[in-house]
Amino acid sequence: MDDMQTNNFIDNIISCDLKNKKHDTIFTRFPPEPNGFLHLGHIKSIVLNFSLADKYQGLCNLRFDDTNPQKEEQKYIDGILRDLKYLGFKPNKICHSSDYFDKLYDSAHILIAKNLAFVDEQTPEQIKENRGTLTKPGVDSPYRNRPIKENKELFNKMKNGDFANGKMVLRAKIDMASPNLNLRDPVIYRILNVAHQRTGDKWHIYPMYDYTHCVSDAIESITHSLCTLEFEDHRPLYNWFLKKLEFENKPRQIEFAALNLERTILSKRKLKQLVDEKIVSGWDDPRMPTIAALEKKGVPPHALINFCQMIGVTKKDSVIEYSALDGCIRDELNKKSPRAMAVINPIKLTISNYLGNDIEIIRAKNYPQNETTTLRDIPFGRELYIEACDVMENAPAKYRRFTIGREVRLKYAYYATCTDIIKNDEGTITEIICTYDKKSKGGKTDDKRKVKGTIHWVSAKKSIDATLYLYEHLFNVVNPSISLQNNIKDYINPKSLQTIKNCKLEPNLSNPENIVYQFERLGYFYADQSTKTPSFHRTTTLRKSSD
Ligand code: ATP
Ligand code: MG
Repeated sequence: MDDMQTNNFIDNIISCDLKNKKHDTIFTRFPPEPNGFLHLGHIKSIVLNFSLADKYQGLCNLRFDDTNPQKEEQKYIDGILRDLKYLGFKPNKICHSSDYFDKLYDSAHILIAKNLAFVDEQTPEQIKENRGTLTKPGVDSPYRNRPIKENKELFNKMKNGDFANGKMVLRAKIDMASPNLNLRDPVIYRILNVAHQRTGDKWHIYPMYDYTHCVSDAIESITHSLCTLEFEDHRPLYNWFLKKLEFENKPRQIEFAALNLERTILSKRKLKQLVDEKIVSGWDDPRMPTIAALEKKGVPPHALINFCQMIGVTKKDSVIEYSALDGCIRDELNKKSPRAMAVINPIKLTISNYLGNDIEIIRAKNYPQNETTTLRDIPFGRELYIEACDVMENAPAKYRRFTIGREVRLKYAYYATCTDIIKNDEGTITEIICTYDKKSKGGKTDDKRKVKGTIHWVSAKKSIDATLYLYEHLFNVVNPSISLQNNIKDYINPKSLQTIKNCKLEPNLSNPENIVYQFERLGYFYADQSTKTPSFHRTTTLRKSSD
């Protein structure tokens, strides 16, 4: 991570804190809840937390915020660890909020002893009702002044599983008239008679996010606790707990704008809905914005990191255009992807003046953009496949591909002129006949005559069959998070996945490497190593058509 660039308002705060000797070193953390797989939004947070720690020779922890056992699963913990590894980040420590359950429980007893927390037996509906609104103060719970001793006993019993779920909660005693609703006696523990994936049956109560988070930060000596803007209103509560519990180390919460990406949902809960409703095939469906999905379609980790550094970190909400991410992916792939030729929608091209049926070898550059490129052999012959969309009858003068009488370059090979177009009974073009200029081998001629277009091709005899998966945005609306309140199925782009079988590929791809290839004029394609017949996922299209 040596080339990481940070420079944002948080960086400035940290640099000031260090200059003023507020800390000797800094500690940050990335705290996902293991209730789903990581998505692009998390990458922004990961890059921010890890790169700041790195820049100031500090440390960054990974903390699983696992206080909601009904929603959390080991498979998500495993997935998150894998995703972090894919991105190339190594946490200082792997922690869990559940590591601190004892400490959190003891701290809650401190609050009770200080008469700053009480057991409330109101129903969840009553608590909600009595909370008030932004314009109306809340109403004190009738249990607010319960004696400390009774609170202690009840809280112990809650812990031991003596009560049913929802029967009572532990609340902080702050101010029911506070203009900040988060300070109106927030719930800090609820009863959940549910086993936890790590602590088993030990607990029948689980701490709430706001309480858990600041205490966990303090225990881990976090200096700067970075979170998204929606927690700004929670900061007074974060600071209240730290003050009342008299933690020596007082982490500072700093909020930044979450990543919003057009046509994309960035929330684990909402993404889970897509998986549960089988709108996608799983968390790693390549149309998902998860790291697992991006990896499956060959997006290099550096492209993701570069993207996050390019968009930067501010306090102002905005929606980033998807093309910004695609640009970073292409920049990364363009350098590394060898070229190859594939025909998605093949029609036959027969060269009438090509003598014999023999195959000849054409040499092509694997990396034409590099001076020192390797070469590969591509078979060429009398019969080729080209794209159906590279032929048009009665084409306009500026059409740069095949129409009768027009000469076109067959990439790396020869110039060919279309002499006949053959159609089936339905009027669809099935084949074209061409003549070729034998002297134009290599795709150029001595007389330097120009051809208008260059198209890709494969040998009909020597090509291999493959399945290509083409992806578009999953949603046909720019802001799907808003539309998600309605019937989500109405907003799915029907063309988001196109599976195209029997595509024709040059034979060099019969055993593809575990890399992304650039298929000339079609885009970047990642070889799927899990299938018997060659299959490729389109990572992204090319910047513009090279027609
Ligand atoms: P959920 O929908 O379950 O709340 P989430 O997608 O918001 O899930 P969390 O586990 O709540 O993910 O978040 C883990 C960390 O990642 C938090 O620090 C959070 O602020 C950060 N994070 C989540 N989404 C984004 C985002 N879109 N942009 C930047 N940071 C994010
Ligand atoms: Mg969240």
